[in-house]
Order: sequence, then C-alpha cells, then structure tokens
Amino acid sequence: MSDVRNVIIIGSGPAGYTAALYTARASLKPLVFEGAVTAGGALMNTTDVENFPGFQDGIMGPELMDNMRAQSERFGAELVPDDIVAVDLSGEIKTVTDTAGTVHRAKAVIVATGSQHRKLGLPNEDALSGRGVSWCATCDGFFFKDQDIAVIGGGDTAMEEATFLSRFAKSVTIVHRRDTLRASKAMQERAFADPKISFVWDSEVAEIQGDPKLSGLKLRNLKTGELSDLPVTGLFIAIGHDPRTELFKGQLDLDEEGYLKVDAPSTRTNLTGVFGAGDVVDHTYRQAITAAGTGCSAALDAERFLAALS
Ligand code: FAD
Repeated sequence: MSDVRNVIIIGSGPAGYTAALYTARASLKPLVFEGAVTAGGALMNTTDVENFPGFQDGIMGPELMDNMRAQSERFGAELVPDDIVAVDLSGEIKTVTDTAGTVHRAKAVIVATGSQHRKLGLPNEDALSGRGVSWCATCDGFFFKDQDIAVIGGGDTAMEEATFLSRFAKSVTIVHRRDTLRASKAMQERAFADPKISFVWDSEVAEIQGDPKLSGLKLRNLKTGELSDLPVTGLFIAIGHDPRTELFKGQLDLDEEGYLKVDAPSTRTNLTGVFGAGDVVDHTYRQAITAAGTGCSAALDAERFLAALS
C-alpha cells in the first residue's frame, strides 16, 4: 500500500496535464496516471492544431502534448504511463488500482479520462486521420476550404458539422444509414435549406480511399447493396462519442449519455474530494482549450478542498 498522496489525476490529455501543472505548482506533488496506450490523449492522433492559443503558426498535436507533459513534469508532477483499472472513491481516502494491482491512495482525485469518438471501424480510417479524415469540424473545417466533403451520421452533431462545414466547403454530402434523420427538426431544416448540402440516404461507407491523403469513399446502399463512388477530400465522422466513465459507474453520477456530472461551474462531482474535467464531462464544446480550462478549474477546486482539510 502506498503513502496517501494529496491528489491523483487519471488521464493525460489537455485536462489531465493542465490539472497536473497547476497542482504541481501548488506543491501538491500530483500522481498522474497517463493511460497505457494513449498517453497524451486525443491530440496524439492528429496533425496540425491551429486553434490552441499561443501558437501563432499552429503546432502539431503530439508536440503540443509533449510540451504540456514536460511543463507539468518540470514542476514536480509524477507521471505514470499506466491505466487505472479499479477505483474506490467513496471514503475520505480514495484508492485507485493500476494494471499491476498496486493500490494508490489519495485525499483528492481528478478524473480527466476524456471521451472516445466512435469510429466506422474501416481500414484506412486511422491512417488517414488528420489527412482528410476528421471527427471535429470546429477543429479541422478551416483546412477544407473549397473542397468536397462527406459527413457521416444523421443526428444533431452531424447536421451541425455539415452546416458549419458548408461555410468553407465547395459541397457537403451527408451520408446516412436510414432514410430519415434523428436530428431535431430545427437542425434538419437548416441542413435541408442549405444549397451546398446534399444527402445520400440508406447508405454506409464501405471503403475509405487514398494514400497518403483521402481521395474518396466507396458507398454501399443498404437496401440494394449497390456500390457507388463519392470523390471527396474531407470526411467528417459524426456518429457519436463514448465518454470513458465505465470505471466510475455506480460511484460517480453520470448523465443519460454516460458523461460525468459535475456541479457546474465548479468541477465537483457527487463525491467529496472527486473532481471531473475535460471531455469526460463536456459533450458541448469538446476542444483542447476548454479541456485545459476545466483541468485548471479542477486543480483549483482540489487545492481549495485540500486546504480546507488542514
Ligand atoms: P483526452 O485528450 O481524450 O485524454 C484523455 C486521457 O485519459 C487519455 O490520455 C487516456 O489515455 C487517459 N485515460 C482514459 N482512461 C484512463 C484510465 N482508466 N487510466 C489512465 N488513463 C486513462 N481540439 C482542438 O481544440 N483543436 C484541434 O485541432 C483538435 N483536433 C482534434 C483532432 C482529433 C483527431 C481528435 C480526436 C480531437 C481533436 N480535438 C481538437 C479535440 C481535443 O483533442 C479534445 O477536446 C481534448 O483532447 C480533450 O481533452 P481531455 O483531456 O478531456 O481528454
């Protein structure tokens, strides 16, 4: 059994590293579990990040995350590239267990485990991520000026992405598995009224093509089985996100979509001494800067909580 730490942070995206930086600078010696496979979080899978303030010419996602990591380490954050596989967050002393079975104890825990965008599960999808394939129009729309783009999905997010992208794109084709949309009436009407947006119904993506960049899609009509080509240089996949909250079920309050509930504008969860930050909480903004922002808030909330204990 380890000593009782002040604070343990689970997650190493912009939220986790920012929380680590702030708690380290407050001399709380945070212990950070970065994750075994994806230390650095979602931005490790992208290329240019042009909307994180402070980088006039943009910065590559992995470089931004390496900088955040090094900055938190410089002030004494202890970083462990491992997953947490079990937690007990109910008592005054919280415990988290790593993959080797070692139990770590702390007075406060910050949950910053992010959310996973749903994938189509096709070959080439990961290889072309940042090379034409994207999950975030706010992040990447600007790179697709005057290009032909496909958006996959039929919900509010897909309609929002498509109407946002039509500002830049030459054309936007929404590909949907059914012949009706799940999106709200208002969002549907906006998309239907947009002259740049067209629809391919009852269809799925059978193949993502291109090397080294996206050049087109092969679509399959689910009613007829017929295959067709859609030449596009942008593909936005908008079929949902899964917050990484499996570990906390039954302990922390989650909303109906599985996101961590906090007492906003604070980052307090339903359990005293447990705080939530970043995309695991946020299904609205989902940006690196907003994740970093709430990571800072969680660190300050944890700091005040610990100060009140002593
Ligand atoms: P994440 O970055 O998802 O990090 C979560 C971390 O938690 C991961 O490191 C994971 O390993 C770790 N973790 C999860 N479970 C455990 C566990 N049990 N134990 C230990 N660790 C765990 N945003 C922008 O602002 N600009 C962009 O240009 C941009 N481009 C993007 C491109 C792509 C391809 C994607 C997918 C996203 C992009 N985003 C962009 C969105 C941005 O990446 C996210 O909003 C941001 O990373 C969320 O940060 P986070 O810290 O909440 O979570």
